[in-house]
Amino acid sequence: MPRPISATINLAALAHNLGVARAHAPHAKVFAVIKANAYGHGLLRAAAALRAADGYAVVEFEAALQLRAAGYAQRIVLLEGFFDRRELTEGAARRLATVMHSEEQLRLLEGLPSGSRLDVLLKINSGMNRLGFAPEAVADVYARLQEHPGVGKVTLMSHFADADGARGVDWQLQTFERAVAGIAAPRTLANSAATLRYPATHFDWIRPGIMLYGSSPFAEQSAVSLGLQPVMTLASQIISTCTLKPGDTVGYGGLFRAEKNMRIGIVACGYADGYPRHAPNGTPVLVGDRLARTVGRVSMDMLCVDITDRPEAGLGTRVVLWGEGNPIDDVAQAAGTVSYELLCALTARLPVIEQD
Ligand SMILES: *Cc1c(COP(=O)(O)O)cnc(C)c1O
Repeated sequence: MPRPISATINLAALAHNLGVARAHAPHAKVFAVIKANAYGHGLLRAAAALRAADGYAVVEFEAALQLRAAGYAQRIVLLEGFFDRRELTEGAARRLATVMHSEEQLRLLEGLPSGSRLDVLLKINSGMNRLGFAPEAVADVYARLQEHPGVGKVTLMSHFADADGARGVDWQLQTFERAVAGIAAPRTLANSAATLRYPATHFDWIRPGIMLYGSSPFAEQSAVSLGLQPVMTLASQIISTCTLKPGDTVGYGGLFRAEKNMRIGIVACGYADGYPRHAPNGTPVLVGDRLARTVGRVSMDMLCVDITDRPEAGLGTRVVLWGEGNPIDDVAQAAGTVSYELLCALTARLPVIEQD
């Protein structure tokens, strides 16, 4: 038998979660965000499951080319824009759409050979303070885009810093509205959190990412309560057990010390599979059909779980690290991170199983 760990990707759940996004924003079109190898789920696999989307959003130029080569005719947008002249001209030839967030990109675009044409998402910095033109510059940049024959459709774009948090979106929406006053062009602002919580941000195109993968963008609201289904299930098995006496420690650094007699299950999953090394004692794991807790430091290929009160658990018992029966958001919270980071960190050695 091969090492028993694998990631199962539930394709029907991906399609279902796209439906949840649509139900929240019935009048908007959807850019399915599949950057970073579709948040670790596999670019082409996710694109196929999400083929009902009106468009795709990626960061990597090569990913956009792969989507076109695979025959997807939808809009494909580069979320950080193009990085050099080759990407610009080849992108235009492949009918990609590009985010335009800087004066440097604008100058490159203005040098586009005649005959080429590229759709543009004009990115406005409404408070995230990462990418985008300052609100005061927008009218001028928009005019320059309008003048240039190489520019196709222009869409106005911004990104929220705290749509999942206490500050919300109103402060950024106001800045955005002031910046684009009088400009009649389609708009795109909403990430997953804004899609779910703020209908006033939906406009013409929404850009859901994390919710498509079945994770909640909100710390205080579960994915289940939002009607989302988990897409990735990272599962393995107990490959050995051992017993502890009071005072015994587990694993590197002796991070866990037993205070009583205990039984420990050793699970074939470690940080070389993408499980977070910084997950502390007590991180939830599903052992068989009930939740249990990790003990000790996660090592490269193994981690340990407390099965003291679980006599039925032993060699070969199935363990779900996250996914079906053990929400990834709970694991991420215990490990002091977010589901995005866990999903993206899956490593190449993991076998992936597609589930229809
Ligand atoms: C990643 C990304 C999104 C999707 O965000 P989620 O929180 O995953 O929904 C939307 N827009 C931009 C510009 C992004 O970079």
